[in-house]
Amino acid sequence: MSKSVAIFNQKGGVGKTTTNINLSACLAKLNKKVLVVDIDPQGNTTSGLGVDKNEVEYSLYDCLIDGVDTKKAIIQTYIDKLDIVTSDVELAGAEVELANRKNRELTLKKVLNQVKNDYDYIFIDCPPSLGMLTINALAAVDSVIIPIQCEYYALVGVSQLIDTIKLMKKSINKDIIIEGVIMNMYDSRTILSKQVVEQVKNYFKEEVYNTLIPRNVRLAESPSFGLAITDFDAKSKGAIAYTELAKEFMNR
Ligand code: ATP
Ligand code: MG
Repeated sequence: MSKSVAIFNQKGGVGKTTTNINLSACLAKLNKKVLVVDIDPQGNTTSGLGVDKNEVEYSLYDCLIDGVDTKKAIIQTYIDKLDIVTSDVELAGAEVELANRKNRELTLKKVLNQVKNDYDYIFIDCPPSLGMLTINALAAVDSVIIPIQCEYYALVGVSQLIDTIKLMKKSINKDIIIEGVIMNMYDSRTILSKQVVEQVKNYFKEEVYNTLIPRNVRLAESPSFGLAITDFDAKSKGAIAYTELAKEFMNR
């Protein structure tokens, strides 16, 4: 059975896109059929997986706003078993355009329902906001992965994030659950990193993945080459961690 997951945190720069690219790439390499949906107008997942936005005929915008068949917007990435529905700046307009529609929150769900059964996993890369695009992502998925950066202000904004999920549960997606919490940019040399992990574990308990994603410069470099970390530098700490995380994700 297919499972869809939103990578969500309204805070910017915590590792949503890095996780989206690398977790889905690792799962595809573990022989799962994966679709990545880029719902962030920044389009970082799209470019990070080596897709040239100028060569895309139909993007997520066309599916959401003009009702283009989802299958027409699916592009094979360079990784076997990993497909993507791309985003570009045009998608920023969808935020406003959707606002005037009936059942606006369920638009993405309808788009994904057309292809859901073709995949083991669907991952959605959310933008850093709580706007209509994020609400559409949360309405469309079975669960949510929350990346959190190991920094002093880690838990700031988390209660707002949880309130949003609760609101979804009460209204349009009563079955949504938290799939897991990822501690990103972990630095084993600092006491702060350890303290933040403790603090987040106190809050989220066993929802926190055992696999910690280290701060690793190779993870920051790989998107500019359009490669997942396992292809950019298979021996890097980042590649090893995301492979571990993919296994932990599958076994949960
Ligand atoms: P946004 O909210 O803008 O969409 P995001 O949550 O998707 O941001 P990313 O784009 O994944 O966050 O990461 C922010 C920046 O930090 C990027 O430059 C990324 O390459 C870098 N980065 C993310 N995780 C790591 C890591 N573990 N080690 C080193 N750099 C990282
Ligand atoms: Mg991002």
